[in-house]
Amino acid sequence: MLAEAQDKLKQHYGHETFRPGQSAVLERLFENKNTMGMMPTGGGKSVCYQIPSLLMPGITVVISPLISLMKDQVDELKEAGIDATFINSSLSAEETSAAMDEIRLGLQKLIYVAPERLEAPSFLRMLQRLPVSMIAVDEAHCLSQWGHDFRPSYMRIPELVQSLPQKPVVLALTATATPEVSDDICRALEINKENVVKTGFARKNLSFHVIKGADRDHYVADYVQRNPEASGIIYCATRKEVERMYESLRKKGASCGKYHGGMSQDERRNMQEQFVYDVTKVMVATNAFGMGINKSNVRFVFHRNMPRNIESYYQEAGRAGRDGVPSDCVLLFSPQDVQIQQFLIDQSQMSEERKTQEYEKLQIMTHYCHAESCLQRYMLQYFGETDTEDCGRCSECVDDRELEDITKEAQMVFSCIKRMGERFGKTMVAQVLTGSMNKKVKDLRFHQLSTFGLMKTRTQKDVAQLIDFLAASDYLRLSGGNYPVLQLTDRVLPVLKGDTPVTRKMVKRPEK
Ligand code: ADP
Repeated sequence: MLAEAQDKLKQHYGHETFRPGQSAVLERLFENKNTMGMMPTGGGKSVCYQIPSLLMPGITVVISPLISLMKDQVDELKEAGIDATFINSSLSAEETSAAMDEIRLGLQKLIYVAPERLEAPSFLRMLQRLPVSMIAVDEAHCLSQWGHDFRPSYMRIPELVQSLPQKPVVLALTATATPEVSDDICRALEINKENVVKTGFARKNLSFHVIKGADRDHYVADYVQRNPEASGIIYCATRKEVERMYESLRKKGASCGKYHGGMSQDERRNMQEQFVYDVTKVMVATNAFGMGINKSNVRFVFHRNMPRNIESYYQEAGRAGRDGVPSDCVLLFSPQDVQIQQFLIDQSQMSEERKTQEYEKLQIMTHYCHAESCLQRYMLQYFGETDTEDCGRCSECVDDRELEDITKEAQMVFSCIKRMGERFGKTMVAQVLTGSMNKKVKDLRFHQLSTFGLMKTRTQKDVAQLIDFLAASDYLRLSGGNYPVLQLTDRVLPVLKGDTPVTRKMVKRPEK
């Protein structure tokens, strides 16, 4: 079957061979095993269902939330000589029923549908009467409540699979899933562990950078002016910020567009098209922009503000360099952003359990910004890839400052946290270490601790940064919602015993 598939790949797409992940997925599908493909953006996920659809006797239903992409995908397939159609809310009632008729008549092999369609009983009844060979679930992380983009209608997919008279084989695809999310998908879609095909999410052409303490507007404008030919996206946290940044870049003569939820649909479509067809070079946008934008030559993605979690960041930043050409992903960090995100979580309608989880994800995102080792590796570890190597390209990998032994300072921080009962946050710990005598310190008698004032030659801010570093390096854990307290992790004991040193890239330390 694989040889036949290879012929089809050549015939319809002109590619000579499958990539290793693709053949692994295809082999399993041909053995009728439910399968999950975890591959990075640009890894070639679509081939994993498009080619088998040609070799299976019945039809293949592709469930995808990317409505804006469906038409283009179907047009491309038709051009490649593959019978395909789509059904989503962009079609009129007549168009929908025409498409359904074609499907009923067996004129289509591949049908793209939006997950909301599964809520319509008439659509489900139609599927039940058709020979469905395969259900392909694109962006499968939308199925998990713990994912960053949960879509309730995805929960209908297992029902759909069960309700079909002939059980189809199921394929789940995603470019972003933590181990928890991937477990959820496997459970819901009955995929066995050995049928999860992972090619690794690493993106070899992306260079990740974290820039701290810069004048952000100036930094972005300067980069854009220095790279006038490059296409890129600048993500901002709010609509207001988008408008401001857009105006400021235009005044400086940059070729740019804007995109956010407050604009009319026409305006948004216009701006998007101009960007996709390279009429404008730079898109200033909120995170409403990007899902389903198929533009391969994006050379940079800036985040003017820190996103709420690593999943969102990796996905948004990952829109750079889909064509494999070296590209930059730059996050401009300001501690204020952490507070804003905390506030947003706090004010949201989420359950307490969910809020706690969101705070944890936010902390991991914040740690990323303070990490002093390979940034790509940090994110891949978050996605459960532990055997990765340093990328050699990110702002940490290329940072050649010397390593300084900070074991003594780390020990001071750890023992202070311990003596304070692991019940206080960063500010309080920094106050005690720098010997700051305020009412709370006095009331709690922390001025009597042996660690009080151990770092009195340092500023409180400096000590707070050291604590951030220790947290980012996994020595400290922040636990509990809005006002997290510092706790020690397993990594601390060997340091306290003097068995393992702690090192840090040299920092310039302002004296008090
Ligand atoms: P994804 O959905 O994983 O982001 P796509 O399916 O859009 O990726 O594929 C990304 C690019 O890789 C496309 O241009 C596609 O034609 C190309 N591609 C896919 N499979 C192969 C292959 N086996 N050989 C060469 N190019 C491939």
